[in-house]
Amino acid sequence: MAEYRHYVCECGYGVSCNPAGFDAMMSGVWVTMRCAKCNEIVHINANDLSHFKHVCPNCGEREGLSVWNPVDCTCPKCGKKMSAVEGEYYLAD
Ligand SMILES: [Zn+2]
Ligand SMILES: [Zn+2]
Repeated sequence: MAEYRHYVCECGYGVSCNPAGFDAMMSGVWVTMRCAKCNEIVHINANDLSHFKHVCPNCGEREGLSVWNPVDCTCPKCGKKMSAVEGEYYLAD
């Protein structure tokens, strides 16, 4: 079980992720990243990352993936700062 947080942007984009920027689950450690190709925030398995086998699960590209920081919380669509929705985090396994 992990505590997720929901972040929203005024442009309408929203994402749910672990506030730590990564998530340790039974399936492994998942790192929150931003894809510059499809402008989505995605979760990449840290094991794939360390072996350079990772690709964006959304568009299949490897180029342009960079770590996304929930502290800076920059919207991948428009570049504005996203805000956390207070009290609307949820638990996921
Ligand atoms: Zn992508
Ligand atoms: Zn935005």
